[in-house]
Amino acid sequence: MEKTLECLAENISASQKVVAFSGAGFSAESGIPTFRGSGGLWERYHPSLYGTIPGLLTLFALRPSRLCSFTSDALCTFSQAEPHSGHRALVELEHRGHLRSVITQNIDDLHERAGHRNVIKLHGDLYCLRCSRCGTRTSVSRGDLRSWGEVIQGRRPTRRHLVRCVRTLVPRCPSCSGTMRPDVVFFGESLPTEQLSRALVEARECELLLIIGTSGVVFPAASIPYVAKESGALIAEIRTEPSAITSITDFFITGPSGRVLPELSMRVS
Ligand code: NAD
Ligand code: ZN
Repeated sequence: MEKTLECLAENISASQKVVAFSGAGFSAESGIPTFRGSGGLWERYHPSLYGTIPGLLTLFALRPSRLCSFTSDALCTFSQAEPHSGHRALVELEHRGHLRSVITQNIDDLHERAGHRNVIKLHGDLYCLRCSRCGTRTSVSRGDLRSWGEVIQGRRPTRRHLVRCVRTLVPRCPSCSGTMRPDVVFFGESLPTEQLSRALVEARECELLLIIGTSGVVFPAASIPYVAKESGALIAEIRTEPSAITSITDFFITGPSGRVLPELSMRVS
């Protein structure tokens, strides 16, 4: 690993066009569980039920208490997570002029919170609501998310309780009074066009793509490494186990992002 790390650091030192591509594994050390991999959310919550709108509606009808615990768990976890040493090391690379952007599949705010200026969010933002009718967006504070999580869990997590929570907690659209929804991409929904186009440009123009903590199976986001590779970029991957992308990598480093990234950043001149 030492030799790969040195060699990767040399390539980053020689480049000003490094782009990072992150997935749920990057946030794992901040306490937000991944979907896949050991300890992943999908071991407890099935994706077709908890990751889609029809699935969530089914839960609302048949298992409201389970839906309450899932929503409450998720809101409390996301609202309390803080960036770790890996996030800070990546910001260092940006400050030293090597990293030009971060493309992320994560819906948390940890890259921005750590200090990155150019974050492209392919799967939306949990700290934002979007009007289902006119598309107006409003931001939601971490404090709001946390108190929503606590209220939703409540003492009697029933359907009635859930409806009351949504009616009283979630504001109406400030422009058209329409219904606001989380500004995140559920399974089966399209990615935000502008973010996807920006990500594709970054992937085509980068000299080195640094992939961190993604299983590389969620498309179209997972096409980013292939686009970068086809455009001639070097591909580096930091992950706790091999992924679907590992076969196209030039550098593969096994280990958690919170440990590997500071070691890498230290070696970049
Ligand atoms: P994933 O859950 O499919 O895979 C994450 C991978 O990261 C795992 O397979 C694991 O091997 C690896 N990993 C685990 N801990 C790690 C660590 N400490 N350092 C480095 N790697 C580690 O995640 P994905 O590929 O991003 O795709 C799942 C989808 O789930 C995404 O679209 C994303 O929107 C969503 N998601 C987001 C969050 C978040 O916002 N934090 C959390 C869970 C899921
Ligand atoms: Zn509206």
